[in-house]
Amino acid sequence: MSPEDKFEFKAEIKKLLYILSQSLYKHKEIFIRELVSNSADALKKLHFLTLQKTEIENPDLEKRIDIIVDAKEHLLTIRDTGIGMTKDDLVSNLGTIAGSGSEKFMEKIKESQEKSENGGVDLDIIGQFGVGFYSVFMVAEKVEVITKSYLKDEQSYRWVSDGSGEFTITEADKEERGTEIIIHLREEENDYKNQYQIESVIKKYSNFVPFPIYVTEIKEETEEETKEKTKQVLDADVIDDQDTDDETKTVDVEDSESLEEDEKEDDTPKPVNELRPIWGRNKNEITDEDYTNFYHFISKRFDNYRHVINYKVEGQIQFHSIIYIPETKSQDLMRPEAEHGFGLFSKNVMIMEKCQDLMPQWMRFAVGMVDSEDIPLNVSRDTIQSNRKMMKMETMLVKKFIKELESLAENEEEKYLKIWNEYGTFFKEGVVSDQIRKDKLLPLLRFKSSKTPHDKMIGLDTYIKNMAEDQTEIYYLVGENIDTMRLSPHLGYYNQKGYDVLLLNEVIDNFLMMNVPDYTTTIGEGDDAEDKLFKFTPIDVTEKDKSADGDKKEGEDSKEEETKEEDIDLPEESKKFLEFVKETLGSKIIDSKMSKRLYSNAYRLANPAGGMTSSMQRAMRYWTQSNMGKDFQVPQKILEFNPDHPTVQGLVELYSKDPENGKLKPIINQLFENCLLAEGDLPNPSLMVPRLNQLIEMMITGKDDVENMAETMAPKEEPAGEKPSKEEPTKEEPTKEEPTKEEGTKTEQES
Ligand code: ADP
Ligand code: MG
Repeated sequence: MSPEDKFEFKAEIKKLLYILSQSLYKHKEIFIRELVSNSADALKKLHFLTLQKTEIENPDLEKRIDIIVDAKEHLLTIRDTGIGMTKDDLVSNLGTIAGSGSEKFMEKIKESQEKSENGGVDLDIIGQFGVGFYSVFMVAEKVEVITKSYLKDEQSYRWVSDGSGEFTITEADKEERGTEIIIHLREEENDYKNQYQIESVIKKYSNFVPFPIYVTEIKEETEEETKEKTKQVLDADVIDDQDTDDETKTVDVEDSESLEEDEKEDDTPKPVNELRPIWGRNKNEITDEDYTNFYHFISKRFDNYRHVINYKVEGQIQFHSIIYIPETKSQDLMRPEAEHGFGLFSKNVMIMEKCQDLMPQWMRFAVGMVDSEDIPLNVSRDTIQSNRKMMKMETMLVKKFIKELESLAENEEEKYLKIWNEYGTFFKEGVVSDQIRKDKLLPLLRFKSSKTPHDKMIGLDTYIKNMAEDQTEIYYLVGENIDTMRLSPHLGYYNQKGYDVLLLNEVIDNFLMMNVPDYTTTIGEGDDAEDKLFKFTPIDVTEKDKSADGDKKEGEDSKEEETKEEDIDLPEESKKFLEFVKETLGSKIIDSKMSKRLYSNAYRLANPAGGMTSSMQRAMRYWTQSNMGKDFQVPQKILEFNPDHPTVQGLVELYSKDPENGKLKPIINQLFENCLLAEGDLPNPSLMVPRLNQLIEMMITGKDDVENMAETMAPKEEPAGEKPSKEEPTKEEPTKEEPTKEEGTKTEQES
């Protein structure tokens, strides 16, 4: 008897084990999936080792998984001929929480406990993540793992635990390479003491495991059954004799005589799982259920897929591929370190689980596999990259994938929009990052727009088809929130003209607009068909200045096609008012002016023509925020007023009657911040509250000299509430930009 080594589980595992042993989770059956997957992993690792020609123990041993049901002894055994484990492996693999599944699971458990009030745990996550090996303790009162490593002349070991806090390891006398897990089932776990039940669980979860899985049952015989059986065996004796020398007859007998089936299976057991892979079958033979099962297998997820592509190529290059678009994004897509890619098979044998070279990065939301005879079995990452056939396959796969999306967009719009809503960002990423596919992806993009009903979206081709007659450009607006954008003052002119405006509010949209200056599409049909280019034009830009005081920029010839809008001949009061606005806001704005671009709105903040677009500003903001953790810089724009709007007319009048009126400055500051707020450019909106209170008090009392509390209470040097952005560009107007303290004299301070 070898000495017994005792080990304690790490604290986290103890906690996990406790949760699992207490769990009333209804899908306990997943422990079979987990153990079979581990066996399959161990066999796969062995397979790779053979490919690399590593020397291994028992090289001729068949790669298989056996499951043995022993109802009488309440035992369930899962045995494989995989790589096995050394003593060190046992300690580190089955004693720590290194397994990826369990690690994620514990993270989720923590989250779920933090969220729920009573510290309860949402057990659904067990199924979602798979808890790996430890899930066996949902049904086991004791587990033995007897294992022998693939390494030459290794000792075999027995690991034993009841899942409470410790495990022991002793030497064992297992002769063949591999691992055997003997589960001592709890009394009440009858589901797993039945061969049929086990088989159905395997079909459900592990059908496409690429190694044969055999399930056998050690029968407990009642006296009656023993008698019955003896009789059958006697009757069958003649047939059995024939079996040995004529195989074809055995098949005949099996087919016709159902009575004998049990015994026959004992003699020539068949694997429970499907070994003929789904891609080896005719398309019309494959049922939805087959596709779903295979999806679960290949994606390691247990939800539904939205769309499947079964793509077979024959000819110079040949391969067969099955690609799925899952209904929802996997959480892995958000983890930058996670690996993506299609499973790579060669003649039905998996050679790489996630081959990244078969898809561009943006396609990573798709899951699936490719099987090709053209790929040698002993490929490595390097040879794959330089393999021209692989490159060709990638090209063809992506082409097919895009074609399929095109066809969905055209023929099954509803389905396409569901895919778009889930994965649209990835398509946009593709436009930005995949130069080769950019032009193919652009027509697949969908947008919200000012004229499209709120629950619908529009593509670029439809946008162009619906353009107003005198429209030549694609108009767009970037912002944070679609609902706010629909109310944007920038839209006024375009609504009036009947021009549709694309509304873009995703982070990636800003990068999209920086990368895609225009869109070319075919207009007309037949002989009239011609390619036409349409520029993307942001609508939050001020008109080029051509007014009388346009002495600012010379040498910039306005293009000939530019429509000559009548210059606004400004009355003296308006000019003075605009000066006052500039003085009040200082370096927060570039300029203030009267504009004909505003319809029902009184004012807006517009970008200077030819300057940085809002997309650029936003893109830079995201970049500096995520890379340097910096606060963002409020962009400097031009404050435009609508001379026809009563608010503006009233303000101009107020100013010309009494330039000292205490209302003016808070109102102008508030107008300015309203714009920023609407654009999503105001870093700290709550700072406007004291000013709003000041304005409300003015409105209610009719007084012009109410104080801004924030300014009265702030330390002398730095009035709060009106902080300009700190990193101003070179030009400085230090004193003017701050609202002066004198504004508004002391008033009643009852509060
Ligand atoms: P995961 O499979 O996610 O790594 P598990 O908890 O299922 O996590 O398994 C933990 C580790 O134990 C595995 O990574 C593997 O190294 C080892 N292991 C489990 N089962 C076997 C087996 N049948 N053969 C060889 N090693 C195994
Ligand atoms: Mg596992």
